[in-house]
Formats: sequence, structure tokens, C-alpha cells
Amino acid sequence: MIRSIFILTVFSLAACAPQPVEQSATTKPMGPAMVAAANSHAVEAGLEILRNGGNAIDASVAVQSVLGLVEPQSSGLGGGAFLVYYDAATGKVTSFDGREAAPSGVSAELFLDEAGHALGYLDAVNSGHAVGVPGAMAMLGMAHAAHGNLPWGSLFDGATQLAEDGFAVSPRLAALLSRFGKRVQLDQDPNAAAYFFQADGTPLSEGFVRDNPAYANTLRQLAKNPRALLEGELAEQIVNSVANGPRPGALSLADLAAYQPSVHDAVCRPYRARQICSAPPPSSGGHAINAILGILSNFEFSDQGADDPGNWHLLIEAQRLAYADRDRYIADDAMVAVPLAGLLDAEYLRQRAALIRPGTAIVNVTAGNPKGAIFGRDSTKEEKGTSHFSIVDGWGNAVAMTTTVESIFGNKRMVGGFLLNNQLTDFARNPVDADGLPLANAPAPGKRPRSSMSPTIVLDVQGQFMFATGSPGGNSIIAYTAKSLVGVLDWGLTPQAAIDLPNVIARGDITQVGARNLDPNLIPALEQMGHVIRSTRGEGSGLYAIQRLSDGTLVGGADPRREGVARELQ
Ligand code: GLU
Repeated sequence: MIRSIFILTVFSLAACAPQPVEQSATTKPMGPAMVAAANSHAVEAGLEILRNGGNAIDASVAVQSVLGLVEPQSSGLGGGAFLVYYDAATGKVTSFDGREAAPSGVSAELFLDEAGHALGYLDAVNSGHAVGVPGAMAMLGMAHAAHGNLPWGSLFDGATQLAEDGFAVSPRLAALLSRFGKRVQLDQDPNAAAYFFQADGTPLSEGFVRDNPAYANTLRQLAKNPRALLEGELAEQIVNSVANGPRPGALSLADLAAYQPSVHDAVCRPYRARQICSAPPPSSGGHAINAILGILSNFEFSDQGADDPGNWHLLIEAQRLAYADRDRYIADDAMVAVPLAGLLDAEYLRQRAALIRPGTAIVNVTAGNPKGAIFGRDSTKEEKGTSHFSIVDGWGNAVAMTTTVESIFGNKRMVGGFLLNNQLTDFARNPVDADGLPLANAPAPGKRPRSSMSPTIVLDVQGQFMFATGSPGGNSIIAYTAKSLVGVLDWGLTPQAAIDLPNVIARGDITQVGARNLDPNLIPALEQMGHVIRSTRGEGSGLYAIQRLSDGTLVGGADPRREGVARELQ
């Protein structure tokens, strides 16, 4: 049966082209299929595509198009993304890069004010300087051209219809609008103000049916051309909006036209006989996830899994060591030398692991010195406007995609029914660190800012897909994603139980521990070991994961901290 899936999938991939592919009996999907995403409208749109003979890449286009409509605070047409793809026919895992690029007119001082001081939070995030070339849709166009099954234009039908008919504003969107809408100055852009607020200035409430004809129109243009935002009338609207205050940006039509998404081998490393694959730079996922697990592979967890504070201690220390390296070395490797091979070298990670003592926290974690360049430590904060989805189709192909407009509601500027990103604030605000060392992640023309997005796919001992996971959450994404991996792979939990575990984020010398599902003994036990703990309530994870069991059954998990679901195709 495995062999017949292989042959059938080769057939369907060979047929991938702009032409519609007939779903004959021989190309019929063989196994179960599932979509896990942050909003049930998006999940349904993805399932509908799978039902009509689409594959995981086709479904990704539909899911993203709907998320941009119903969850505009997190991701959308105006943002960027990384998509990690497992191709069942070849067993290969590739990573599509749709990260936003800086305009050609920027300098390393992009986020410094006239006096040379780093801009304040809202000043930077809402400035024209923050908007990078939106890459998500062009990247999906590239992934579809390589692997899609259904015609590109048909993938937008569900989202277009929903934009025209209107959707009920979700509880989370309503709550964010009412708590943060005005605070983050979403009402300062006239288009955003008219869309997200009623005439009297009240933010849209839960259940309000919001239509978005401008979005429907944009989708119609994208249905004809995946680069519709990068050329023509929509590109002009983007450039004009960025050229407005506050702090007009340098983004030009030429910058948009020059943008190219790219595809790479995913960064894959062995972990206890499996392969862990995530996105390469400028994402830090491929490095950080594999560094955490590579360090952990030098230890055995006790059988008590999440009930043993000693096991959490190991996960915390591995995170601290990996984050320290990630903060110093990861950036856009098209522009700076990233010593990725040195950072993930098994012997280097063994040396990092040797810094961990059972039962005692490391005092003052610092970056290591792998083979490669030296850069200063970047402590850029990343925000909470992001979404993750995982998809498995009936042929056995899998997608893990993390997608973002960066901050909540991105840059707040709205054109064509969607929000622009503020992704360039993921660059270091200061181009040098406190010691004057240049930062790998300093802004530069055409450069892509470092991301924490960690869409991850795990292959089993036979090299077949077994788990897809990922999360939003700024640089805590790495910690959230690692938790789901350790929960499923090491502690034997279902994806849902792993996602439900408390969030524990260990970056630097402070470990944040989320309140949800927390064992009251955990914090005192960690403090006993010397960990400095900060309890957190507002948790930003949004893990959406799918596991394939050895009998082929799919098991999904959806983060209760957000409002999405994991649903199997019936
Ligand atoms: N912009 C961040 C990144 O690309 C993600 C922000 C978030 O998760 O909210 O890493």
C-alpha cells in the first residue's frame, strides 16, 4: 500500500501544472486527511479543498485566504510566512520562504530617531519604516506551482464568498478590538477605522456580521495572479499607504516588483531516531528547535514526563542555551554569515549540553562559540500577531505553515481589505549591541528580518511523516513548539495533551511559566533548583498540530488558548 501511494502521488505531482487535474480513481487519496488551524471557517475552507481533490498545498492557500479575513489581527495577504512541506512521493521536506524583505532604500539606522535613539514601541511598529514587502501569497503561488493539484484560481472561492456574505466576528477578534484596538491606534488609519469600528467609534462586537468587499476584490485579483500585490494597482495602493505618516517608509514599486519567494531544503536533524525538520534562516526555527532537541538528546528524561520537575529543568536549560545562540547568530543568511552547521554540530551541542547540571540552574547563560562568525546579542522583542496551521492530505503530504503580520493588527494600515505588516520591526532596533558589536540581524536593503516562526515536521524512523506542529507567539514560538515536540515524542502524550501542558519559556536568566494547567508543585521545585521564575497569565501560544500514528490514523490538537480546531475530513 505504501508503494501504491508512492506511485499515485508521483502521478499527481507530475500532473501539477496550471491545468486542472482530473481526480480519476487512480489518483484518489488513500488515507485520512486533516486540517488544524486557528479559526473554524479557515479549517472548513481547507477541508472543502481536500474534499474536492485538492492536496495539502492547495488547502494551505484556502486556509490562508480565510485566516486573513476572519483573523486579520494575526496573519493575512499583507504579511509573510514560512511553509514546511513533506512530499509523500519523494519523502523530501522543503521549506518555502515568503518572509517580508526590506526596501532597497533602508539603512541600518531604520529604527533610530533623529537623535540616534531607538524608536519607542508604537512609533516603530506603526511607522511606514516597519512595512516589508508582503511575501505570503507570492510564496504560496510558488509552492502551488511546484506541488498544487487544483487550479490556483479555484482556491479562493470559499474566502471570496465569505468576504462578500460577511462572517460573524469571533470572540477573540472582538475582545482584541475592544482591549487593544484604540490602544494600538488601529483607528488612526481611515480604512482600518471604517472597517473595525462602527460609525460612533465602538469596536465591532462578537457576532457582528462583517463583510469585506474590498478583500473579495483583492482575492479575485490574486486568483488571476499570485503576484497581484507586487505589481499593478494593489502594489500602488500599498506604496501610497506606506508613504503616508507616521514616519513615511521607503517601500517602492520597484521593491515590490523585485520580491522573490524562495524554496530550500528544510533544516533537518536526527532526534532519537526521528528527523526533525523546520525552516532555515532567516527563520530561527530550524536552528533553535534542533538545538533544543540536539542538546536534550544527551539526556534521558525520567518516565514521569511532565510530572517530573527534573524533566522540565532539562527542557528549560536546553531552551536557554539554544536561545542564547539564536539571539546572537541567526539572521538572513543571504546577507550575513550564519554558522548554522557549527551551531547544530552534534559535538558542539554535546559541549553545550555538558553545561547542564541535574537539579541546578546554570547561572548566567551565554552564547557559545561555534565555528563561524561572531555577532553581538540581539534582544529584539517580537509581537503576538501570528497564526499557525497544519494540514495532512489523503496522499500523505503534510504542511506546517506559520504566517504573520507581526504585531497584533500588523502595521494598522489597511489597503484592499487587508492589513499591512510591520515585519521590519523584527530587525534589531539598534544595529550594534551594548558592547558595540555589530548585530547579525541589523536592517539592510533587501534583507529579511530574523523570524522565530518554527513550522516543524517530524519524520519517523522509516522517514515517513509523523507529526506537524508550530505556533504563533513572538520569540516564545520556539518554546511553545519545543514543548509540543517533547510532549509527543518523549513524554508519550497526544498532541492535545502536549499542547495543554503549561507554557514554559526560558530565554536568558528568567523562565516564564504560564498559569494554565500548572501543577502547583512545579514552580517551587524549579525555584529550588535556582531558576528565576516569572508567572505569566496572558499566554500567546496557538499550537495546531497533527500526528500520524503508525497505523495511519491522524490525531489532531488545537490550542485552547486560542479559538481554532483540528478536524478530520469526513
Ligand atoms: N514576527 C514574529 C516572527 O516572525 C512573530 C510574531 C508573533 O508570533 O506574533 O518571528
